[in-house]
Amino acid sequence: DRMKEAVTRTRDSLGERIESVIALTREVDEGALEELEMSLLASDLGVTTTTEIIDALRERAKRQQIRDGAELKELLKAQIKGILDDQQRPPHVVNSPPEVIMMVGVNGTGKTTTTGKLAAYFRAQGKSVLMCAADTFRAAAIEQLEVWGQRSGVEIIKTRQGGDPSAALFDALQAAKARSNDVLIVDTAGRLHTKNSLMAELDKMRRTTQRIVPDAPHEVLLVMDATTGQNGLQQARLFTESAGVTGIVLTKLDGTAKGGIVVAIARELELPVRFVGVGEKIEDLLPFDSAAFVDSLLG
Ligand code: GDP
Repeated sequence: DRMKEAVTRTRDSLGERIESVIALTREVDEGALEELEMSLLASDLGVTTTTEIIDALRERAKRQQIRDGAELKELLKAQIKGILDDQQRPPHVVNSPPEVIMMVGVNGTGKTTTTGKLAAYFRAQGKSVLMCAADTFRAAAIEQLEVWGQRSGVEIIKTRQGGDPSAALFDALQAAKARSNDVLIVDTAGRLHTKNSLMAELDKMRRTTQRIVPDAPHEVLLVMDATTGQNGLQQARLFTESAGVTGIVLTKLDGTAKGGIVVAIARELELPVRFVGVGEKIEDLLPFDSAAFVDSLLG
């Protein structure tokens, strides 16, 4: 399936390494656990997450509860799935439409692309969708979003480049209410070198939103690039600390052999992964499914 396809390169890496550890493991001893630990670290699971997994497996091994490599692999899969599922939350309640989804993240992570894909995703579910081009900073962002809108038949509300994002957002919220749209997706700016002004802008947008739709934004999705690995986590913290992030979209999963980053991000940011991007086309956005992901990662 699509997830498997996208994570094939990931599998070559973590899946194969683990296969080789397991092939050699007649007995699950400290040596095997160390090998496994190296494999998990090499796949970008990060120190915290890897240590947690290895400690749990070591406990089991001590009590002679792991008989062979195959069992080790199943336990490992269950551990990783458990970490991902721990972060899941019940879906948010939308008291009165529109449901407002704000997209935040650093430039170049795929925020605009994901906004466009997400609009098409909801559209395909029969929902009426509106997009707001509130990334008024990056030169091409508004035109880019217009192209996505044409592809999916979703209208966009925009302002000129350099305009006030909150003004565009205000118009979009009014329009979405007037037209009874089900969903409003807001693309925001992500310039990082002026981090205080960026956070102030996001905060202003949040307050503007709440003036018109009091329980919104219902979801603030942090868009992260899977190919940036552990470095991306540092930048992400900036947003989670001040932008009220409720979930993660991990893009470019098709471009990394280190799918373990998905687990590290969920665990370390304590946020659910909502969607993954697996390519540049409109259909290349998948709702995140932990079981499918773990199967793709480890086979
Ligand atoms: P923004 O600056 O965060 O709005 O980033 P863009 O939406 O402009 O995306 C930056 C680049 O990443 C573009 O070339 C996109 O086509 C590409 N991109 C976005 N998502 C994915 C994905 O899931 N897979 C791949 N391979 N490329 C992606």
